[in-house]
Amino acid sequence: MNLLHWPVRMHVASLSVSKFCFLFSLAFCGFLLLLIPALQPSARKVDLPLPRPQVRPSLASLSHHAVVPGGFLHAGNTDPITGLSRSSAGQERLNLTGMMMTVPRGVTDSRRGPRGGALPRGKVGGHSGSRSHDKLELKDIFIAVKTTRKYHKSRLALLIETWVSQAKEQTYIFSDGEDKELRLRTGANIINTNCSAAHTRQALCCKMSVEYDKFIESQKKWFCHVDDDNYVILPSMLRLLSSYHHSQDVYLGRPSLDHPIEAAERVKSDGSMSVKFWFATGGAGFCISRGLALKMSPWASLGNFISTAEKIRLPDDCTIGYIIEALLEVTLTHTHLFHSHLENLQKLPTDTVLKQVTLSYGGFENRRNVVSIFGGFSLLEDPTRFKTVHCLLYPDTEWCPKLNPWHRN
Ligand code: UDP
Ligand code: MN
Repeated sequence: MNLLHWPVRMHVASLSVSKFCFLFSLAFCGFLLLLIPALQPSARKVDLPLPRPQVRPSLASLSHHAVVPGGFLHAGNTDPITGLSRSSAGQERLNLTGMMMTVPRGVTDSRRGPRGGALPRGKVGGHSGSRSHDKLELKDIFIAVKTTRKYHKSRLALLIETWVSQAKEQTYIFSDGEDKELRLRTGANIINTNCSAAHTRQALCCKMSVEYDKFIESQKKWFCHVDDDNYVILPSMLRLLSSYHHSQDVYLGRPSLDHPIEAAERVKSDGSMSVKFWFATGGAGFCISRGLALKMSPWASLGNFISTAEKIRLPDDCTIGYIIEALLEVTLTHTHLFHSHLENLQKLPTDTVLKQVTLSYGGFENRRNVVSIFGGFSLLEDPTRFKTVHCLLYPDTEWCPKLNPWHRN
């Protein structure tokens, strides 16, 4: 044994121990560093966003979403999730595995009333609340007035002076002759349909056909038709239509009969079968949603309305009912808010007159058939009662009599 080497050996041994300690502490520090994320408080993990479930909308909800203005689908676009796009004909196209299917809008709409008629918005959960951005405005309604040259002075002038003046931009007057003077003087939208001025089925259907095409062209949400002896109470019309959505299948009006009409079915079959359907009388006015109007296109657009009416040999308002109820199987929603002079207008309670949507008055044969309302004009000054109604609705109109403040209540 060489004792001389002992301290040297001791020194080498102590060096190895300290090197071991150094390496061990390095490894320990590394281990501690690895542990740091695991030592984070567990609450942080809970705050992390959860992945959203990828729920594909059902077909029933697609028809609703596709038409919400500014919603997740826009005209001409294909939605990356649903594969739905909207064609210019107002139909939604479903692209499933590269195959294009055309789904008529509203076909999947389950919001039907007891007779299949449309239910107002809000009656089914979740619809009205989510659409606060989608509020219906007067400019969204296309109002068509049917008239004829001989009534421009005796009937139309009164309408232009009264309710039309409050809805100039969206009211279109369909006549059968030029009247530049009336157009220039009043600034009204008067359309010369070039249809015959006769009171025949063909002439009336010709006008309705032009009304329909102009509405489709207008892009407005609702089509309402009235005659030139109707007063439209615009705030009521807006309130009524606001309770539905224009993408639903909505046909609103008042039947003149208490039973459905029956006609030979000459569109879907050879006429050996008959078909029963309700229709809203044109004399009281009626309204159709854009969604439904687009579906009427094969039988109503570009002159097709005239040939459909010819096939069933019925007037314009009956033909509308036939296309909607018999061909499209959408039911008329009956409303008592529309009025023609076929009914006894005096029976309408005075305090409800301003809540109606349309009013009318008896013609030459029944001058006394007018609504009973009291205001600034006598029956002699205002035989139709339209001026009186107008002044109650718009008292600031310059020609309305200023009521004595003592008589106001
Ligand atoms: N009308 C028409 N051409 C005519 C006669 C009437 O376009 O030759 C229109 C008229 O302007 C009105 C509707 O048809 O808007 C109904 O006419 P009217 O009120 O005289 O008849 P009724 O209400 O009795 O059917
Ligand atoms: Mn009439």
